[in-house]
Amino acid sequence: MKEQLQALEKEALQKVEEAISLKELQDVRVAYLGKKGPITEVLRGMGKLSKEERPVIGELANKVRGQIADAIDSKKADIEAEELEKQLAEETIDVTLPGRPVPTGGPHLLTSIVEEIEDLFIGMGFEVREGPEVETDYYNFEALNLPKGHPARDMQDSFYITEDILLRTHTSPVQARTMNMIQGERPVKMICPGKVYRRDTDDATHSHQFTQIEGLYVDKNVRMSDLKGVLDRFAKQMFGEERQIRLRPSFFPFTEPSVEMDISCKMCNGEGCSVCKKTGWIEILGAGLVHARVLEMAGYDPKVYSGFAFGMGPERIAMLKYGVDDIRHFYTNDIRFLKQYHQA
Ligand SMILES: [Zn+2]
Repeated sequence: MKEQLQALEKEALQKVEEAISLKELQDVRVAYLGKKGPITEVLRGMGKLSKEERPVIGELANKVRGQIADAIDSKKADIEAEELEKQLAEETIDVTLPGRPVPTGGPHLLTSIVEEIEDLFIGMGFEVREGPEVETDYYNFEALNLPKGHPARDMQDSFYITEDILLRTHTSPVQARTMNMIQGERPVKMICPGKVYRRDTDDATHSHQFTQIEGLYVDKNVRMSDLKGVLDRFAKQMFGEERQIRLRPSFFPFTEPSVEMDISCKMCNGEGCSVCKKTGWIEILGAGLVHARVLEMAGYDPKVYSGFAFGMGPERIAMLKYGVDDIRHFYTNDIRFLKQYHQA
């Protein structure tokens, strides 16, 4: 019986040594140490032994069992350590792999143009002012010499919210508000960029919502030549030093006299082409000297103060500057269009 136990021990330790997975190890444990295993079998048969033999064999059986169990535990720790190492090796991060590029955003073309125009006028001493897009009829029309029933109101089809409140049709109310706040006590030199709204059918050159930048300069002795000088600087800085400007007579209710400014066509240098419709000139903006009634309503004495105002559409400026052929590109947010104008 003693030899039987020693043989079992040798055999079991051999199997433990050969096991290469936790599953195999568990099989060895069940086979040798389980309730139906050979060692249990030996212990069951101890009743047949003599009194002297019984404790000797009992002790040996327990010792064999302990040794097999210890061998299994130690092998188990080895296999676990090996598996962990294997797992760590598999999960190692390869720092030499190239990274995945993160796409970067950039300002919208319209935002860039508005900021460029702002910077240009800030450089000439203008301050930037903003006002509400939901406006009262008074500031949008009346304070700008457009009383109720004035035929020129038809030039700006409006979105009315109530009888007296509407979505502003131009950024001029910001000028009216600013002058009204100052109450004729000091000069004002400002530009106001912002969104405006008109009832229009959207097509390649019209949009029911668009952007405007208007400028206003009120002081003593402001003359037409001052306006021309400022607009000339704007045109040259925006479209190139070789551009010429010309002023044509026009009509706006809030300015008198009123003009429209053209710049010489960049494509043909004034010779006439399809872009300038064979005229050699391209219309850029409207302007004029502030109407005496507008100054008066804002608290300025028109005998002492005079001023000029101008207004332009940044969409049109961007279209001319970058050759954009449809105003709707600014609002449909097609990433392929917008990406072309990202500056690094
Ligand atoms: Zn041309």
